[in-house]
Formats: sequence, C-alpha cells, structure tokens
Amino acid sequence: MSDLPFIPQANPGAGYRALKAEIDAAVSRALASGWYILGAEGRAFEAEYAAWLGTAHAVGCANGTDALALALRALGIGPGSAVATVSHTAVATVAAIEMVGATPVLIDIDPAFYTMDPVELGTVIAHPPTGLPPIRAVIPVHLYGQAADIPAIRAAAPGLPVIEDCSQAHGATLGGRKLGTLTEISTFSLYPTKNLGALGDGGVIATGDAGLATRLAALRQYGWHTHYISDEAGVNSRLDELQAAILRVKLAHLDAQNARRAAIAARFDAACAAGGLTPPARRPDATHVFHQYVLRVPDRADFQARMKARGIGTGIHYPMPVHLQPAYAGRVALGPAACAATALASAEVVSLPIHPDLTEAELDRICAALA
Ligand SMILES: *Cc1c(COP(=O)(O)O)cnc(C)c1O
Repeated sequence: MSDLPFIPQANPGAGYRALKAEIDAAVSRALASGWYILGAEGRAFEAEYAAWLGTAHAVGCANGTDALALALRALGIGPGSAVATVSHTAVATVAAIEMVGATPVLIDIDPAFYTMDPVELGTVIAHPPTGLPPIRAVIPVHLYGQAADIPAIRAAAPGLPVIEDCSQAHGATLGGRKLGTLTEISTFSLYPTKNLGALGDGGVIATGDAGLATRLAALRQYGWHTHYISDEAGVNSRLDELQAAILRVKLAHLDAQNARRAAIAARFDAACAAGGLTPPARRPDATHVFHQYVLRVPDRADFQARMKARGIGTGIHYPMPVHLQPAYAGRVALGPAACAATALASAEVVSLPIHPDLTEAELDRICAALA
C-alpha cells in the first residue's frame, strides 16, 4: 500500500472546505432569517439558476428523483403511460417513472457515449413491446457530463415530450446550447457529489413554459396554487432555505469548477495515452463537463486494485444495470437490443477521481499511475 494520503473518488468535504467562508456566511444568513422553507433564498436560487441556464423558469424541489417525478406529473404522465429511458443510469431515473405509476421501457446505449441509442428508440416507438401501455414521454440521460443525442432522439420520437435528465451535466452543451434548454422540461439532481451539489439533498426542474412552471410549483407543495387549498393532488418536495443559500454560493463557482474538471480531463487524456488506455470519447459539437471521467478496462478488478495500491480511489457508475437489479429484473420492459451494450459497459466502466478540488500533487499521482 501507498504511504501517501488516500485520494477518494469523490470528496464533497473538500468542496465545502474550498468555499467555507462564503458557505458559512450564507448558512448564517439563512438561519438568522427565521424562514426555513420556500422563502427568499429559494426564490433567489431559482432566479439565479434560470438565468445561469438561460431558461425562463427554475423550480426547486427536494432531490433529483422527485424532480423527474414532478416533471412527469406536470406533463400528465402516470398510470396507463409508458416512458422510454435507459438502463445505464442511476436507478433514480427508472424509480421516478414508477413513482408516478407509469411503466418504464429501457433502451440500450450507444456504447461510444453511454447515452440512449436513438435508432433503437425509433424501433421501440414504431413497434412497442407487447403488453406495454402507449409510450408518452422519453427521458434521455446526459450521462457522466456529456450530452445524449437530443436531435436524433427528438426525430425518433416525433410529438413526444422529452425530459432531459441533466443530473450529471450541469453546464454541458450540445450545438452551443446548454443541456436542460433543449426540450420542454429538464431536471437536475443537486446531490452533494454532482457538479452543482448541495450539502444535503436538492433538485431543480427547468422549463421555458410558464404554465408548466406554475404547475410544478404547485405540485411540489400539496398541489397548492393558493395557500392551504389543493387544486390538484400534489406531494411535499421542497428545497429548503439552507440548501438554497448554499447552492447560490456554489452556483457562482460552477463555471470555474467545470473548467477545472475539463483541465483535469485533458491531463488524464495525456496520461491515458501514455499508459495505453483509451480516453473517453467526446461527442462532436458538445462540451463535456466531466461529472465522471470514465475508462473502459476489461480487467477492471485488477485496475482498481492497482490504483488502490497507489492510494487512489476509483468508482463504478454503475456496477449493475437497472434491468438486472433484483427489484427490476424480469419485470421491466426492454427494447429489442435487450440492453446488451449496457450490460457490456457496466462490466468494464471505471471512474477516476475528477472533482475540482483535487490538488496538483494528487493530480500528478493519478496521472503517474495511469501512465
Ligand atoms: C443523481 C442522479 C439522479 C437522482 O438524484 P437524487 O438527487 O439522488 O434523487 C437521477 N438521475 C441521474 C442520472 C443521477 O445521476
């Protein structure tokens, strides 16, 4: 084992310490306000997030899973509807579809970019699996910080609403436009390890549609359009003032942190080339924000053990595709590819540490190990 300090794959504590003075001041301000749920901090965060993203409306909520479920509900999708998404994702994407009573159908990935295969999506829309309710929405996931092919997905699913799951892609672009502004509605997790992370749970939904925004703001709080009067049945999924105050601080640093991730990725690319490893593919006309820097290694356990011996943590995103997990295996609908590329990827993917607070010394150690 290495005697050097261990480099964890993710390190949200370092993210806090790097901004401690600013975050502590924001927390004190929120505590002193005497207002802890849906107040000035939350409204300011929503306005600042919408402006940063370049969309008209952002609605805070409790987490990224709820953000997806609220988006589906706002679009009127529930029991009797199927929703196409991927199996190579955080289980949350699929869980959110079932939370609203809809039926997931899982499409395989394009193995180069780990995102939804638009060709198979088109096949599933044209020839849905038997026994499936009508497909009424599509949720592509912008995985690891890089865009799914939204124009091709749109073309494969004409007329269907598309919800971008941007939980791993805050700030990434496609065709010069920020992800989360390419479709009618998009969702972001603000879990601590995401590119924009709270110090607790949080989520946000973005839309350019004022009607959807109003509906989302009601659905997240019991369906209230007016205080204490539920016009429709909603849920409790609010972003609290402490997290909103913290997120306002972190949002101001997000672009610089994404630039730092890109610079780290460039260092890794060079080290991978030296070490005979293939760097992750970049989609043309897109910017990748490197939520994860993911390699494919056939001898993954050995690779991880050798990195660990050098004091370097690695992760696997994700070790078991959703369709093979005990809760879903055998009962969740798949497209004709039966998620074969997904299963191959999940056996080989490995994620390096890439958070923006890595020190130069840590970066040098990781690059030396790769080379
Ligand atoms: C993190 C994540 C989620 C879920 O977010 P939570 O805030 O943990 O509920 C959903 N989708 C993707 C792709 C994620 O990475």
